Amino acid sequence: MKVGIIGGGIAGLSAAFWLSRVEGVSVTLFEKDERLGGCIGTATENGFTIEAGPNGFLDSKPHTVQLFQDAGLGDRLLRSNDAARKRFIMRYGRIIRVPEKAGAFFKTDLVTLKGKIRLMGELFVPQKKDEKDETVQEFAIRRLGQEAADFMIAPMVSGVFAGDAAKLSLKSAFPVICELESKYGGLFKGMLKKPKKKSGPAGPGGALTSYIGGLMQGINDLEEKCSGVEIIKGCAVNEVHKGENGFRLVTSQGEYYFDSVVSAAPAYEAAKFLKTLDKELADIMDSIPYSPAFVAGLGFNEEDVENDLDGFGYLIPKLENKKILGALFTSSIFPSRRPKDKKLVRVIMGGDTDQGRSLMSKSDEELVDIAFNEIKDTLGIKAKPVHHKHFRWDKAIPQYYPGHSEKVKSVEEICGRIGGIYVGGNVLCGIALNDCTRRSLEITESITRSLEKQGQAS
Ligand SMILES: Cc1cc2nc3c(=O)[nH]c(=O)nc-3n(C[C@H](O)[C@H](O)[C@H](O)COP(=O)(O)OP(=O)(O)OC[C@H]3O[C@@H](n4cnc5c(N)ncnc54)[C@H](O)[C@@H]3O)c2cc1C
Repeated sequence: MKVGIIGGGIAGLSAAFWLSRVEGVSVTLFEKDERLGGCIGTATENGFTIEAGPNGFLDSKPHTVQLFQDAGLGDRLLRSNDAARKRFIMRYGRIIRVPEKAGAFFKTDLVTLKGKIRLMGELFVPQKKDEKDETVQEFAIRRLGQEAADFMIAPMVSGVFAGDAAKLSLKSAFPVICELESKYGGLFKGMLKKPKKKSGPAGPGGALTSYIGGLMQGINDLEEKCSGVEIIKGCAVNEVHKGENGFRLVTSQGEYYFDSVVSAAPAYEAAKFLKTLDKELADIMDSIPYSPAFVAGLGFNEEDVENDLDGFGYLIPKLENKKILGALFTSSIFPSRRPKDKKLVRVIMGGDTDQGRSLMSKSDEELVDIAFNEIKDTLGIKAKPVHHKHFRWDKAIPQYYPGHSEKVKSVEEICGRIGGIYVGGNVLCGIALNDCTRRSLEITESITRSLEKQGQAS
């Protein structure tokens, strides 16, 4: 069976790797850029290692760890420093540690006494009965109260999705949280009743994990392990057609023929090449919005930063009226990513809360200045950065608004009807690297099953 994969980000590359190990499958991967990786990119300059996109993935979910282990690269994975478990949120202009234990929760300034009492009342909030596709904010206010929604949940949403809690669908964006209510009656009840996973060194959420030398090094090493895959870079797929003999792909480098096709491109790109296959499918892809992001990596002389940066970093609630979404203390998370006497902070800006995209309309230089000015006082920084590197993502992360689950259902129906076409990546069911690799594994299993069926039939 010949499989064509469109897009060489983590999703396309992981699907290519796993599919190439299935007997009877030959794989061709098309990537329109001259390099693989998509959202993944790492800049290594002046002793600093700065990620352009994702920082890493949690080892509590198996799929990305499995990918590197299956490729024989498990020993290249880099676990974050234990300091990364300390997370902070800004309130009253100060950064406050997010409490992990009940004792710390009662003492924290993150939520007022009134807010804490309301939050505890979650235990008594009745279970939602209707099928309404709630936003994360509606859910959080209903179950936890306005204050926890504003100062704990909304910043978490902007940290994960660069999203707006008032716009994202809870069941599509955070299905695990949604399930705590639907299955167990509430968040606290769910946390008490849900079977416990083994806790990792960085807590039950697992340890943030990256790759020695940066995630891009992981992509390069995986590419090398895909020796059986035909990888065609600098080649955009422009049209997908299906006829009696399978799929015909019209690319910038000619036509190719396949039995199955995996789309692992962003939704707005897939919309273009799927138009020739199925208009409804293309329209759904086109309707998935994206949030923008700007990432500024700022390196400082150690003595110029008063804050010890002992932790993962901090997120900023919208009500704090700051121009950045938060900052990651990269030199604490992965100490090997800066020269010995330096500190590295990665500032994230933009997101779906940037109304009218007013911030993103500024120049790169202006945004780097804003990034520095926004962290300067908070972290007690006395001098300008000695090194900086920035990355602009006009369409960074897909946003799952209410109604997204219907889109997912329709995509599944249409793909099932057409047969042999699969939509992977972060477009439908999760934006984390672990979600992308999980989806690639599901697609691999599905193609393997159809191959087995064909074998039985012949
Ligand atoms: C700033 C930022 C920070 C993030 N932080 C984290 C994090 O810390 N942890 C985490 O788990 N996730 C994080 N994410 C999310 C995660 O990085 C992405 O969801 C994931 O990398 C998407 O992978 P993908 O393969 O689905 O898509 P992409 O990485 O977008 O890859 C798609 C590829 O398809 C190619 N392509 C497009 N059109 C065509 C075409 N017509 N023909 C051929 N090729 C085409 C593109 O060039 C691209 O290489 C972050 C994302 C961003 C942007």
